This record gives sequence, structure tokens and C-alpha cells, in this order.
Amino acid sequence: MVNQSIYNQYIEQAKSHNATVVAVSKFQPIEKINQLYEWGHRDFGENYVQELVDKYQLLPKDIQWHFIGHLQRNKVKYIAPFIHLIQSVDSFKLLSEINKCAEQNNRVIDVLLQIYVGEEDTKYGLNTNELLDLLTIHEAQKSSFQHVRIRGIMGMATLTNDEQTISREFNEMDAVFSNMKQQFFFAENNFDILSMGMSSDYVSALDNGSNMVRLGSSIFGNRKI
Ligand SMILES: *Cc1c(COP(=O)(O)O)cnc(C)c1O
Repeated sequence: MVNQSIYNQYIEQAKSHNATVVAVSKFQPIEKINQLYEWGHRDFGENYVQELVDKYQLLPKDIQWHFIGHLQRNKVKYIAPFIHLIQSVDSFKLLSEINKCAEQNNRVIDVLLQIYVGEEDTKYGLNTNELLDLLTIHEAQKSSFQHVRIRGIMGMATLTNDEQTISREFNEMDAVFSNMKQQFFFAENNFDILSMGMSSDYVSALDNGSNMVRLGSSIFGNRKI
């Protein structure tokens, strides 16, 4: 069972920063998702395609599913018919594949570009140069990207207890977001999502400009893995 007063506290806290809470439901049972759904929650996040497709089939169709894990290109087709926001786009090839699958489904799919600003080279996410490259190519070929809409960025801070490092990284991501908006999306009203912060660091994320936090264990309790 999910504790409703704890859930409400997170929602209120996010609301006071005009931020959306994506409830990260990976490895969580259907019953717990249904509980949040009954309280009016609609935004849920998943990391694995098969698990997401299974849950999509079992749960109400007005849920807004967010994909937040590493996405392989050959699996985009399974989520393209229904996905609400793909937060983890980390290459131009993946963006192209999403555009293609969205077109096949007569949809426009909203996406975020996943970036990282930490010191060490992590496995996933675009660094600042890669981000600039992707946006430049996208800009040049915009007319052939009618079926994806870049809504903003998603980022994770380094896994550390050092609050200064975490805060500095969120602050950097906020700066990247603003620069991107100025350079590439100033004419558009829907470049507006800065997704950062999870259970351990969402307070710092909200203080540094996040308007979408992804909360898993803090809301649902520990995952069964
Ligand atoms: C699992 C996951 C989360 C949620 O993590 P918690 O620590 O349980 O809040 C958020 N974002 C991403 C990208 C994740 O993979």
C-alpha cells in the first residue's frame, strides 16, 4: 500500500514550485499504481519497454506514460502508439527512429534530450558538445522532423552525498536549458520541460529550476528487484 499523506506531501511540495511529479513505477505492482490513479495521479514513469507495454495494457488508457530509461532503437515501435513523453533521447539516430515510428502511428511524440554535466563520462546522456551537434543537425533538417517535438531536457546529478556537487550540476543543467531555449527554441512556446530530481535529490533540483521531478522509492517504497 502507498501512504496517501506522504504522497500528498510530495505533490504539494512540487506544486509550490510549479513542478509535475512523475511517479516512477518501475518494478512496482499494478495495485500501487492503481492506488495513485484513484487519487487522481496520471503521470507515471517506466524504464523498461516490456514492463511498460504490459502495464499499459492492464491499466486505464488515460495514464500519461513517460519513458525514462535507456531506449534501444529497435524497441521504439512498441511504445510509439501510446507513449506520452520519451525523456531519455540520447542520440540523433534514436530521435530519427522516434520520428519515423510516430509518423507510422499518425502521432507527434514529445521528447526530452537526456544530458549529463557531471565529471565522469557516464554511459547514457549527451554531453554539451553532443547536445549542440544534435540540435544543429535537427535545426538543419527540421522539415523532416514533423513527428517529434523536443520539449526540453532530462538530467541526473552524479550519485554522491555531496550536496554542493548536486546543486552545482542541477544549476548547470538549468543554464543549458536556458541557453538551448535562446539558441534553438526561442520562437516556440512548447520548449518548457526541465526534468531533474529523483527521490534522493529532488529538493535541490526544485531549488535549481526543475519543473518535473521523477519520484520512485520515496512515493512507492522500495522496489522489488
Ligand atoms: C529509477 C529512476 C528514477 C526514480 O528513482 P528513485 O530514486 O526511486 O526516486 C528517476 N529517474 C530515472 C531516470 C530513473 O531511472
